[in-house]
Amino acid sequence: MILELLKADITEIQVDAIVNAANTSLLGGGGVDGAIHRKGGNAILEECIQIRNKQGGCKVGEAVITTAGNLPSKYVIHTVGPVWNGDKEEKKNLLAACYQKSLELAVQNKIKTIAFPGISTGIYRFPKDKAAEIAIKSVNNFDRISEIDKVIFVCFDDENYQIYERLLKRVDLE
Ligand code: ADP
Repeated sequence: MILELLKADITEIQVDAIVNAANTSLLGGGGVDGAIHRKGGNAILEECIQIRNKQGGCKVGEAVITTAGNLPSKYVIHTVGPVWNGDKEEKKNLLAACYQKSLELAVQNKIKTIAFPGISTGIYRFPKDKAAEIAIKSVNNFDRISEIDKVIFVCFDDENYQIYERLLKRVDLE
């Protein structure tokens, strides 16, 4: 598995699946969620609504998969990150679950290349350094990671990019 770091807009990345930092309603929102639904078009929202009708949205730490509509990727994996408040340990576990559940869905759908945004590091206010550490650890610790060819961490802002760059140079996170 190759780990890559990019400073980019995730809606422009051509991979099998991009991950969306969604919310429990699955009906779209601000930040990366808004950008994905805007550029991906209505097909994504329609599938999200179907999932919502069937299972009532998506819980924090869980993930669901839809088409990517007009985006260059094939699928969007929607995961719901935790809001950074209350029990911090619980929030860290939930963020790790987002990465793990997204990767499980990827493997189930034979996805070989996947791009993650910094889940929870925008509107949900998770500290960026902690979130990046959890992201990298979760990917490295995923038990079926050998079935994935490439994982791309896509950073939108300089701060996140620099944090990932620093952490990815460290070996003790593996
Ligand atoms: P959350 O509610 O999970 O915090 P946000 O969308 O507010 O989700 O932010 C998550 C991260 O996604 C932030 O680091 C933000 O800078 C980043 N982001 C926002 N738009 C994009 C985009 N188009 N591509 C990649 N990352 C993005």
